[in-house]
Amino acid sequence: MDPRQRNITIAWVIGGLILFALLQTFTSGQTESIEFSRFLDLAEGGQVTEVNISETSVSGTFESDEGEREFSTTLPVNYESNQLVDQLRENDVEVTATQPSPWFGLLSFILPFLFIGGLYFFFMRRMRNQLTGGGGPLSLGKNKAKLYDRTDLKTTFKDVAGVDEVEAELAEVVDYLKNADKFRKVGAKIPKGVLLVGPPGTGKTLLARAVAGEAEVPFFYISASEFIELFVGLGAARVRDLFQQARDRAPAIVFIDEIDAIGQSRSGAAGGQMGSHQEQEQTLQQLLTEMDGFEPNSGVILVAASNRPEVLDAALLRPGRFDRQIQVNLPDISGREAILRIHSRDVRLTPDVDFKVLARRTPGFSGAQLANVINEAALLAARRGKEIADMSDVEEAIDRVFAGLERRSQVLTEKERRVVAYHELGHALVARFVENADPVHRVSIIPRGIGALGYTQQLPEEERYLMSEPELRDMVAVLLGGRSAEEIVFDVATTGAGDDLRRATEIARRMVMEFGMSEKVGPVSIAETGSRFLNPMFRQGNDVSEEAQVMIDREVKAILLEGRDKARKILAEHRDDLDGLAVVLLDKENLSRKDLDEFFGEPTPKDDEDGSKTDDILKGHLPQIQRQG
Ligand code: ADP
Ligand code: MG
Ligand code: ZN
Repeated sequence: MDPRQRNITIAWVIGGLILFALLQTFTSGQTESIEFSRFLDLAEGGQVTEVNISETSVSGTFESDEGEREFSTTLPVNYESNQLVDQLRENDVEVTATQPSPWFGLLSFILPFLFIGGLYFFFMRRMRNQLTGGGGPLSLGKNKAKLYDRTDLKTTFKDVAGVDEVEAELAEVVDYLKNADKFRKVGAKIPKGVLLVGPPGTGKTLLARAVAGEAEVPFFYISASEFIELFVGLGAARVRDLFQQARDRAPAIVFIDEIDAIGQSRSGAAGGQMGSHQEQEQTLQQLLTEMDGFEPNSGVILVAASNRPEVLDAALLRPGRFDRQIQVNLPDISGREAILRIHSRDVRLTPDVDFKVLARRTPGFSGAQLANVINEAALLAARRGKEIADMSDVEEAIDRVFAGLERRSQVLTEKERRVVAYHELGHALVARFVENADPVHRVSIIPRGIGALGYTQQLPEEERYLMSEPELRDMVAVLLGGRSAEEIVFDVATTGAGDDLRRATEIARRMVMEFGMSEKVGPVSIAETGSRFLNPMFRQGNDVSEEAQVMIDREVKAILLEGRDKARKILAEHRDDLDGLAVVLLDKENLSRKDLDEFFGEPTPKDDEDGSKTDDILKGHLPQIQRQG
């Protein structure tokens, strides 16, 4: 309740109380309240001159020593007043009677309902005001869409990097709107809708803002979750309203962010609770109607973004709605470099910060994560009392974003630290001495994030799109190097290798089942597709014979065993290096590529090779292996 309303309520209550008190004093001014027995005495003594009997009380006048006085008294419950009347009549007292008004009964019946109804109405209205952001019930369907003016938007395409194709497409959209005539003359139909899809943090929302900054047309921005309301039908009203506004101001761009919030497949199990499901469906329906409703050249273009295009309703993706679908991908190495540069504009960095190296160290990072790296570096530098962040701060920041915050508070026993150090060095040494592995960039035994007690990071010399069979086999060996080192040095296995084993197994399985790299199984693809993999129902009906399954398992195991043997052999040969490096690592907690090269007195053996073997090359997704926990 806002303070003004509260004050009014308090005033009413106080006013009522005063009025009541006044009435009391007026009516009972000279009236004397007497006991019933006294009244009976007075009546018997013939002193009462006049009475009025109501259901519950008697009032009237009696004669006292000081003259006539008014009195009133309460009748006992269920008192038989007829007797009283007879007696009074004998004494010639004038008797009148009052019956309670029939209205009174009715009122006392209705009032509580009125009261409750009033309260209900009052709260509903307040709730609705809150939902619609105030402004009374009439603003129910009004929109929360923000209308951006070009002047107060500073984001432009200059703030976006690494997504050049998307920029080009969106620039085209802007062009359509600015020079609609040019296209109309040739008879071209301007697309109605453009859908941006891609992983989170790749800059979709940022692109939207940049388009708004670039386009010299009104730009309506709304996040789809804002359509979803408590009241069924409200979202649909909002959609209608939004498009109406856009049409009124055409040419205009309407941007709906996170469209999966309303565009979820209606057939799927999506939707959550019953009520919201219905609301979602109506909102989606309205959106479809609006999209069909406007003419291709009406000057309104809808741009939407989603992280999860696979859940979007098929109706949305039908031709004639989102004619263009633009994939926003994770940035490649040059894109990462450019993004890092953009976000370093306002951060003071020493000249030794090498963006090329940083870009190489951050494969798979999204734009948002890269922005975060630079900011973390600045925070770190400030915390360390520096005024300018240097390369070490940025490297540390990458570690943080990459593997989570350091948990220096987590205390490992000395024995555990030794196990972790040898484990990580096992990865590092195998990586260094196998034929086809990426060079080791960093080894750390500082516990980080959830679960990771240390890590070894390898870095490809360049962006890679293909991997060869020997590389995959060596990758398995590197992954198994951690466990192998533990076994060689301590003679026992620990739980620390669980994740390594899982990933090594996954690589081996994919080699056999997806990439046709097993002689015995042959060049067949038996891979479960993504969705089948996720849905346990389908896994039963695997079209692989039991016999083939046994063979697959045997082949997978063979790859793993071969990798382990290779790792063991290397580590046994380099046992001295292992022990020597362990001393350094336990002391410093981190080893860089430079430290390793210094220790061995030579650069990583295969540093000069370009690493891209062209024989035995397979096409397909790269298993993303940069880290061994
Ligand atoms: P999405 O909407 O795709 O999930 P955002 O646009 O919200 O991602 O990105 C979050 C932040 O990350 C942006 O505000 C920006 O600072 C940074 N960022 C992401 N991608 C890029 C990029 N391609 N170029 C520059 N900065 C980016
Ligand atoms: Mg976004
Ligand atoms: Zn490991």
